[in-house]
Amino acid sequence: MDGDTAFANRRRPALFRREYRFALSLSSCFALIALTAGFVSWLDQSESSFLLLWLSNGVLLAYLLVVPRWRWSAYLTVGFLANLTASSVFSGTWKLNLLMAALNVFEVAFSASLLRRRSTCLPNFTHGAYLRRYTWIALLVAPAAAGAIFTPFAVFWLHGKAGACFLSWTLGDGLGTAVTTPACVAIFRTGLRSVRKGGLVWIYPALLVIVTVCGFGQSRVPMLFLAYPLMVLVLLRLDLAWAALCALFFSATGSYFTIHGQGPLLIAKSFAPEAPIVLLQFYTVSGMFLLYCISIVLVRQKETERRLVKTVTLHKLVTENSRDAILIVDVHGHASYASPAIERMTGWKAEEAGSLGFDKMVHPNDRPGLESVIAGLQPGGEGATIEHRVRTKSGEYIWVEGSLRPFVSPATGVASGTLAILRDITERKRTEQEREFQSSLISAIHNVSLDAILVVNGDGKVVSYNRRFAEVWKIPMSEIPARLLGKRFNFSDNQLLSQCIGQTKHPEAFLKRVEELYADRNANDHSHIELRDGRTLERYSTTLRSEGGEYLGRVWFFRDITERQRAEEELHNAYHALETLAVTDPLTRLANRRRLDQSLASEWRRCMRERQGLSLLLIDVDLFKTFNDTYGHLSGDSCLKQIAEAIQEVVTRPADLVARFGGEEFAIVLPNTSNQGSVRVAELICAALRRRKLPHISNPTGYVTISVGCATLVPRSGQHAHSLIQMADDALYAAKRSGRDRVCNASAPGEAGVMARVS
Ligand code: GH3
Ligand code: MG
Ligand code: MG
Repeated sequence: MDGDTAFANRRRPALFRREYRFALSLSSCFALIALTAGFVSWLDQSESSFLLLWLSNGVLLAYLLVVPRWRWSAYLTVGFLANLTASSVFSGTWKLNLLMAALNVFEVAFSASLLRRRSTCLPNFTHGAYLRRYTWIALLVAPAAAGAIFTPFAVFWLHGKAGACFLSWTLGDGLGTAVTTPACVAIFRTGLRSVRKGGLVWIYPALLVIVTVCGFGQSRVPMLFLAYPLMVLVLLRLDLAWAALCALFFSATGSYFTIHGQGPLLIAKSFAPEAPIVLLQFYTVSGMFLLYCISIVLVRQKETERRLVKTVTLHKLVTENSRDAILIVDVHGHASYASPAIERMTGWKAEEAGSLGFDKMVHPNDRPGLESVIAGLQPGGEGATIEHRVRTKSGEYIWVEGSLRPFVSPATGVASGTLAILRDITERKRTEQEREFQSSLISAIHNVSLDAILVVNGDGKVVSYNRRFAEVWKIPMSEIPARLLGKRFNFSDNQLLSQCIGQTKHPEAFLKRVEELYADRNANDHSHIELRDGRTLERYSTTLRSEGGEYLGRVWFFRDITERQRAEEELHNAYHALETLAVTDPLTRLANRRRLDQSLASEWRRCMRERQGLSLLLIDVDLFKTFNDTYGHLSGDSCLKQIAEAIQEVVTRPADLVARFGGEEFAIVLPNTSNQGSVRVAELICAALRRRKLPHISNPTGYVTISVGCATLVPRSGQHAHSLIQMADDALYAAKRSGRDRVCNASAPGEAGVMARVS
């Protein structure tokens, strides 16, 4: 309830205001109609046979044309009452007054209902089509209809002539409406608030008032011809509402004076008594007609101006904000128009660019081409595009793309130059040149590379490959559609893959790896591929990526490394042989002293780590000097070989090392071997030699014998391998001293000098 009350309270002032305005509007309507009807009736008292201008219908029609249609009944009622009141004051025949008021209201209702079928159809007297409809309906048909109804009554009650009654009604109403309605509509809408303010503008209505009063008030000095130009000036400097008001004043004043027997129009009375009135009516109507015509022209002109301004604004917006420079150039290249973009592009101001011409603006090398393109342009044809260089104000040349079209002058319709739209393509050209350079660089790399190169894009399509690729994979050149970069291939990598795969020794593995690499866009590859024809290819593969990291494709490099591998193998063998030679005794093919030192040092360290015993045997051939003396040195060498073989028969463990220690002395390194074990090995060697029965006449046994010194140590830190050699050497010395052909064992350190003869 409270809400409703509040709502009602809020609504009340607005409602009240509306209703108050409505009442005010009705009152003003009543007053205006009564006033105009009264004024005309008052004027008309003297000339009862012919009506002047019936203004009140025009006033009521103006109201109906601007107020909502649902309020028409109120205004029509008010109009009826106002008409009745006004006419009752000046005429005593109530029946006639009633009829005339009813007919006036009928006439207005008829016009309004035809002119304004919907509330949204508002009057527009400066629109040609509306004005025609208004003239037909409101000025001719409706007055004629009302006049036709009025005539029989007028003949019957007033005993007038039918034709005169009909004409008087029709002309009076038609002309009155013609003057009043547009003026009232304009006044209702603008409230006579002129757009152009300023002291001087009011001089025209003031002058018109003077001219009208003076022109009609006397007939000696003709002044009425000044009325029309003044009305036109009022229209131009103020607006139609004021002009219509002036016309209304003109007709009212003219009516007053003419009816009261004054003014220049009375001269026509010699033709007929009504002639001055008719003349005044036509004078007024032609004035209104003039105003309407000029208004229509003005409105059209304003509309055209508005469209023109819009077009010019749009044109400016486009030309001034366009990145492209727009020029209209003649055959010599002088621009009659250049858009502001030319300054941004070249540094030349639009006027400067216009006066320069081709000679100074276009690069000399590009000039002939440009001129011939312009010469070949056909009016109405498609136009042409040409890339050329333009000199900037700083003297540099920039690349532009010019879209050229013949320019046909809108005024003459004759081709009078060329419309050129220039776009700065310097950056594009630079990019193109860079791309061209890179392309030719890649092409050169492709051509001279000893590697086979294959580039595949992200869609698995071949982008490029070189001649070497065909050679490495032995693909006949006829099967390769094109080989140079820059040509667009439209075949899948699978086509090449199928040709390569059959040549590999392990096709499944090859294919699997290729598929893996295509699937993993981060993987690189470096591997060898063996071919069925015995060749080996080295393969590198890596991905191609954009600066932003986007996957672009994969590049494959293949290198035939068969020859290289063979050379490497040979080199390896040679090196190995050399290495062997460096550590081998050439006579006995045993390890030499160098190798012995290396082995002993490494085994020493290892046994120290593992806390294992390391044994060393030192062997010396007995009485070998005399052997040489007896059998000669060659036999001595042969004997040494046989002794080496005998040793190798016994020492077979891979970790053991048999070396020639020097002259006719041998050393054997026995890692992880106990002292007993080493003594056992020494005895076995002696036995093996004995079995060979190498004759030695100077040896008491008659055969070649050896003496062996054994030593075993578990290496400790602070000790050196030399100590083991020294121990073995001491044991050997002991063996020699105690009669040769035996094994002597060195006891542990600290017991040095105590040698055990073991055989
Ligand atoms: P001992 O029993 O005390 O060892 O008597 P020996 O004669 O063997 O004395 P020694 O060990 O000092 O003799 C070394 C001799 O071995 C000297 C040299 O004639 C001989 N000899 C050393 N190297 C070679 C070799 O490469 N070839 C030949 N044929 N004889 C060599
Ligand atoms: Mg010796
Ligand atoms: Mg010896």
